[in-house]
Amino acid sequence: MGETKKLNRVLLVGGTHGNEFIGIFLIKKFQQFPHLIARSSFETQTLLGNPKAFKANMRYIDKDLNRCFAQHFSEEEDLIAYEDIRAREIHQQFGSSGETPADVVVDLHSSTANMGLTLIIDRDDAFTLQLAAYLSSVNPSIKIYHSGDSGRSEDSFRSLGKLGVAVEVGPISQGVLKAELFLKTEALIHEILNFLEKFNQGEVLFFNQELTVYRYVKTIDYPRNKSGEIQAMIHPHLQFRDYHPLHPDDPMFLSFDGTVISYEDASTTHPIFINEAAYYEKGIAMSLTKKQQLPIHVEDDHQINVGNFL
Ligand SMILES: [Zn+2]
Repeated sequence: MGETKKLNRVLLVGGTHGNEFIGIFLIKKFQQFPHLIARSSFETQTLLGNPKAFKANMRYIDKDLNRCFAQHFSEEEDLIAYEDIRAREIHQQFGSSGETPADVVVDLHSSTANMGLTLIIDRDDAFTLQLAAYLSSVNPSIKIYHSGDSGRSEDSFRSLGKLGVAVEVGPISQGVLKAELFLKTEALIHEILNFLEKFNQGEVLFFNQELTVYRYVKTIDYPRNKSGEIQAMIHPHLQFRDYHPLHPDDPMFLSFDGTVISYEDASTTHPIFINEAAYYEKGIAMSLTKKQQLPIHVEDDHQINVGNFL
C-alpha cells in the first residue's frame, strides 16, 4: 500500500449563478463564521462565484459562468465576456497550477424545479461514489444525479477541482431565500466536510452496498414552431414530478390549443430539472435520466483508493 493521500484544500462556492440565493447567503454566513466550516485536517475556503451577477440579481452578466471552465486560460488572450475573465481569475487562484489549488470544489446551486436535495456528481470513481453513498446513508432523501456525458465534467466550475460536486436544491424561485432549503443545504455541506475529514483521518467509512444514481441521458426541448417560439408547456401531471418515473405514452407537454404531447421513447425515464426557469434560453424543458443501482466497491481494508487522481 502506498502512502495515504490527503485532501489539503476544499473550496465552497456559492453564487456561480448570481440569482441563486441559498448558496450565496450560505457563503456569506460561512465567511462571517468560518469556524462552522473549519476542519482539522484541511483548509476550507469560500468564494462568491459571480459577485457582479449577484449585485445585478441575474444568473450571469454576459454568459453562464458554469460553462466557462473548459478553456486553457492563456494570459495573453483578450477575454471580452465578464464570466470568461472571472473564470480565468478563479482558475489562476484555485486551479491545479493556481496559487491555492482546490482539491475539492463544492458548488452550491438552486433550481426552480423540484430537485429536492440533489448531489450532482460527474464521475464514477470510488471516492465520489463513496461520498455519495455516505451522504445517502446520513440523509436517505438525498438524490444523486450523475451528469454523465452532458459536458459538465469539462466546463463546470466544479471541474476546476481534482474532485468536484455540486449541490442543487429546489424548488425555489430565482432571487429568493427559503429557510427550509437553506438549512438542508447547510446540513449537507457539513456532512460533506465531515466525510472529507474522516477520509483524511483514515477512518473506516460507512458505506452502502448499492447506490441509487440518476444518470443523464439527454435533454428535451419544448415543442417549438419554425421561428423557435415555444408551442407547449410542461403538462400539469409532470410538473414537480422530478425523479419520478415517466413511462412511454405518459403526458409530457400541453400545447396552447389543448393538445397533449406524450413521452414517446421506448423505455421509462426519470426526468429532472423539469421546467427549470434558467433553461428556457438553453432549449431545455427537462433532462432525462436513467435510474441505476451502482455497486459500491470497497477495498478489503475499507480504505478508499484515491491514489490515482490525488
Ligand atoms: Zn445554478
